[in-house]
Amino acid sequence: MRKIDQVRTSLIREMEQFEIIDCHEHLGPERQRVDNKVDFVNLFFQGYNDLPIAGMSPEHVNQLLDDSYPLEYRWRLFRPYLDLIRYGSYARAAFIALRELYGFDDINDDNYLAISEAMQAANKPGIYNWILREKCNIRCALTQCESTEVDGDLLIPLMYVMPYCGVRTWEEIVQRARELQLPVNNLDDYEAVMEAAVVRWKNEGVVGLKMQSFPYPETSREMAWSAFESLRTGRQQQLPELSVLYSYLIEKVAEIAARHDLVVAVHTGVWGDFRNLDCKHMIPIVSRHPNTRFDIYHAGIPAFHDIALIGKNFANVWLNLAWAHIVSPAMTRQAMAEWLDLVPVNKILAFGGDYRPSAVDKVIGHLTMARENIASVLAERIVEGTMTEQQAVEIAHKWFWDNPIELYGLEV
Ligand SMILES: [Zn+2]
Repeated sequence: MRKIDQVRTSLIREMEQFEIIDCHEHLGPERQRVDNKVDFVNLFFQGYNDLPIAGMSPEHVNQLLDDSYPLEYRWRLFRPYLDLIRYGSYARAAFIALRELYGFDDINDDNYLAISEAMQAANKPGIYNWILREKCNIRCALTQCESTEVDGDLLIPLMYVMPYCGVRTWEEIVQRARELQLPVNNLDDYEAVMEAAVVRWKNEGVVGLKMQSFPYPETSREMAWSAFESLRTGRQQQLPELSVLYSYLIEKVAEIAARHDLVVAVHTGVWGDFRNLDCKHMIPIVSRHPNTRFDIYHAGIPAFHDIALIGKNFANVWLNLAWAHIVSPAMTRQAMAEWLDLVPVNKILAFGGDYRPSAVDKVIGHLTMARENIASVLAERIVEGTMTEQQAVEIAHKWFWDNPIELYGLEV
């Protein structure tokens, strides 16, 4: 075995001993998983998949997801695409979960029924604990879903701020105020509504607020006030998707987060027209709010060089590898190699599965890939002689455990 492979394997073994913090999921209460039937589609379609890009029609996608169609029929829909997607990293997480949780090395005509049965048999209360705690050694997972309702101490919520900042009509504004039983006659009132919502979330255990790295237009208090008034007076029925009001309220979120000691978590990159999610949109915001801590997700893929420089230049920014390891292990390894050059080791968060309840199985696949990736990058440093193995293990431990605990003030 080559020296680098030995070192890499040894690092992976060390990391498998770590208890870890999962830095981003979309896991609601466990009943959202166990109340639904599961089968092979949960592994190979739910979560993330490349089937439509490989050519599956929207009609067949809908049928694949609709379990009123017989499993045999859905398997025949899926089968032609298997060899087109199997080498991608979304599928790799599925294959690892298939092996580690259900004991199958591959999926084929002979075993898809047995796989589906094994998955359904395991789909019972306790499945989160089995996968996340027993199989993955995850102490807790930061999770963003629709509500703060989480069961037990395994999940810790973050809340999405778009329902407050992204209001586009007077009806939505009135509705938000009504939910908090507060009056709303002007923009000042609405800011108070938003802060009251955040305080309520914090009391319910929320540790962070989630936003997106959109190209927010230039704004000012006057411009936001005027947009707000245009809705209140009926001069305008609906604001554009990205309005000066939205920009202004995002600034307020950053202030409110600092006042209440909450982290602002930020989606960047990857999805759809990813130009509209470029991490560089965050530069003016993070520079205006030095007392707000920003946890910037997904390595900014594909802009991982840019995000590295944001991490390097702003002390209030952390870089979070949630989702990245399954989007592309190759890109993520390159990102981490650069980040080691550029960013202090206390500013990087190693892992977030980014799965919903329907695909919680794949957390183990994603985590396995994260360990492999991190081991590959650190092993190179060890072999080139710029780091000892012990130092590498300490860095990996910071990324998987100390850094998220410190950033989010977790009591674990
Ligand atoms: Zn996510």
